[in-house]
Amino acid sequence: MAEQLIDKFNRVVDYVRISVTDRCDFRCVYCMSEEMTFLPRAQILSLEEIQLIAQAFVELGVSKIRLTGGEPLIRNGISQLVSTLSALPGLKELNMTSNGSQLPRLAKDLKAAGLNRLNISLDSLDEKRFKELTRSGDLSQVLNGIQAAKRQGFSHIKLNAVILKGRNDHEILALIDYIRQHQLDISFIEEMPLGQISEHDRQQTFMSSHEIRELIQEQHAMEKIDVSSGGPSEYWRFLDGHNSRVGFISPHSHNFCGSCNRVRLTAEGRLLLCLGNEHSVDLRAVVRQHPGELAPVKQAIRDAMLIKPERHYFNLAQEVKILRFMNTTGG
Ligand code: SAM
Ligand code: SF4
Repeated sequence: MAEQLIDKFNRVVDYVRISVTDRCDFRCVYCMSEEMTFLPRAQILSLEEIQLIAQAFVELGVSKIRLTGGEPLIRNGISQLVSTLSALPGLKELNMTSNGSQLPRLAKDLKAAGLNRLNISLDSLDEKRFKELTRSGDLSQVLNGIQAAKRQGFSHIKLNAVILKGRNDHEILALIDYIRQHQLDISFIEEMPLGQISEHDRQQTFMSSHEIRELIQEQHAMEKIDVSSGGPSEYWRFLDGHNSRVGFISPHSHNFCGSCNRVRLTAEGRLLLCLGNEHSVDLRAVVRQHPGELAPVKQAIRDAMLIKPERHYFNLAQEVKILRFMNTTGG
């Protein structure tokens, strides 16, 4: 029988999110502070180191990998990395979360390299608000990126939208119209207290999945469906038969920890065992001490399962406990 990674709470870990860079061409207000210091290049895993660690995970039973960041598409050599990882025997799904800005240029290469699915972040369809929320993003580039990905044959493209009350909550129905018009899915994400920000007060802008769903249901009848993408989203479908799906990622109001099947590798090679806790193992130290060797990194990963925490606790009323930003965490 093939090996599996199982933690202390009997959860099978078969999904890894890999952050390939902490850098980004956007500065989303909920994800980063305006002035960010990024990691020096020498501290970032090389593409060869990422490949070695990914292979170790797949040999340990991981069947799904998501590449993320920062913005994965600004990492040099990303298409080559996709090509190498997609060829790993045993890997069933290789997906990516991107802000979409580089897709007009790269969608074709990514498809050819074997990327299976794309999640694209989009919080606003209004040019001015999009610029405000991303601090530097160009909406038309992202919309073109979505169309480029569709033209290359990516199916079930899913948008990710973080909704902030008073900022983009009045765009929820426009986003729903957009996904229905373009045959996309969407997940709405509750903002999480990762990293210290001063741009807005997270407690004041918080909008729960429940509130978002009620607002959508005033216009569109929906019912919950019993599917899992292997991630944290809970999915709903439209009763009028339209096949776009609407997901809700609710780290505050619902806890998805009980069925957590995933771990994260940060750009500098820290294996994070939980999104909302600091428990981690330094895999970069292991791969730099034993370059090119699979056995030591596999053992470090097996050992790490013993410290995967049972759950996280987020409380917007308290001081931020997790100082790392989402771009370093690998969302
Ligand atoms: N740059 C890529 C993108 O934006 O899709 C991938 C990395 S980004 C960190 C991954 C996802 O995390 C995005 O959908 C983003 O909206 C979400 N995100 C970032 N900071 C967040 C926060 N504090 N709370 C909730 N979601 C967050
Ligand atoms: Fe960049 Fe993604 Fe963070 Fe926005 S959410 S700043 S696009 S890493």
